[in-house]
Amino acid sequence: DRVLVGNKVTEGHVNFIIAYNMLTGIRVAVSRCSGIMKPLTDKDFKLTKKLAFDYHGNELTPSSQYAFKFKDYCPEVFRELRALFGLDPADYLMSLTSKYILSELNSPGKSGSFFYFSRDYKYIIKTIHHSEHKHLRKILKRYYEHVKQNPDTLISQFYGLHRIKMPYSFRSKIKYRKIYFLVMNNLFPPHLQIHKTFDLKGSTWGRYTKCEKTEDPQHSPVFKDLNWLEMNEKINFGPLKSKKFLQQLQQDVLLLSELNIMDYSLLLGIHNIETGNDLIEEGNKNDLVDPLEDSNAMPNLLPSQSSRRTIHQHKSHHHRRHTHHSVNPPINNTQVVKHFFQQDEGGIRASDQFNNDLNQIYFVGIIDCLTNYSMLKRMETLWRSMNHDLKVVSAVPPKVYGDRFYHFIENSVNKHYDENQQQPGYHD
Ligand code: ATP
Ligand code: CA
Ligand code: CA
Repeated sequence: DRVLVGNKVTEGHVNFIIAYNMLTGIRVAVSRCSGIMKPLTDKDFKLTKKLAFDYHGNELTPSSQYAFKFKDYCPEVFRELRALFGLDPADYLMSLTSKYILSELNSPGKSGSFFYFSRDYKYIIKTIHHSEHKHLRKILKRYYEHVKQNPDTLISQFYGLHRIKMPYSFRSKIKYRKIYFLVMNNLFPPHLQIHKTFDLKGSTWGRYTKCEKTEDPQHSPVFKDLNWLEMNEKINFGPLKSKKFLQQLQQDVLLLSELNIMDYSLLLGIHNIETGNDLIEEGNKNDLVDPLEDSNAMPNLLPSQSSRRTIHQHKSHHHRRHTHHSVNPPINNTQVVKHFFQQDEGGIRASDQFNNDLNQIYFVGIIDCLTNYSMLKRMETLWRSMNHDLKVVSAVPPKVYGDRFYHFIENSVNKHYDENQQQPGYHD
């Protein structure tokens, strides 16, 4: 239940080669996927591309320190998705691959997935289970259409789906290990401290994070539904923002239910403007490292407060240095309109009943949305056979899950108005 503590991924780290290969693959695959964008066809949703890397390299792939295979899924679709989400192709490549810096979040969830942050903290690489990968491919078209129709969707922004296949020896035989992973948006900002984090599912069973009083900023807990209720927290949105938020949430939940998805959560990070980046500013300046100067290492760019400070301090530096790389013209006439829920420093300001700004910024989105009902059902049966408490998993049908989720969040919004009377300023 603790997040934001992580490990440097340096040479010698158990996952260094995996991380290195992931980035090498992305670099070559994404830079190859440039040129004119044609309208997507059904084929694009099935297309995969394979690359083989080795020490010597060939005309298709540059030489790589380690031998591995890379598979890119639906590259054209993801390219279009990145454009829809307003990413600049050159920046994307730069963030993910320049100088091979990643940091690892040690297994924050129960699923066993690994999380890696890009060095500028904009992107997250999440390793996923084969079944999640299969499900994403199955729903990709619906997801893509949803994003087109709902540019302000709260659902995780997927930027790429890939696989690496690495050899390992087992009883003096060569075996292969396949690792599926996706690239998505980091909901949290590189430059602002998150003072409170919630992961809300709308179910209360086991949804409590014990909070020992700790002043260690690196151990800021992720609170859950029962904490939310106990703390009597609300999402403060005036009539305008709450209307937009709940409408979008409803659309998103509708899609997820239709796609048989469940077990997702609303991730909410709260930044208090008055508190500011207190830990960041008070920090020990000697801790600072320049990730850009530290060439081969993959320094700890974790969302720990000290690393946020590092990123913050070098942000302008980074921009100055790399602006000349953004030479690509705007893509495909896609108008890059600012995402509604990212309008204030990458998040959205809280507001009062008159729609005036309050001193909080919310960073909010729906995460972990690739688990389908049958997967969870299977897991549940497995757990049952292992004598685990059934309710820990408690797979309810997606529609039930979605309704419960939506109503929990709806009740969590301090709307300041009564829907029936349409009167701003109404308090319950
Ligand atoms: P489980 O299935 O056990 O819930 P998981 O391995 O599928 O775990 P997630 O639920 O996707 O993991 O994420 C775990 C935690 O990682 C979240 O509670 C959140 O703190 C952090 N996290 C996940 N996705 C993001 C994101 N897009 N932006 C910021 N933080 C994230
Ligand atoms: Ca989860
Ligand atoms: Ca999960």
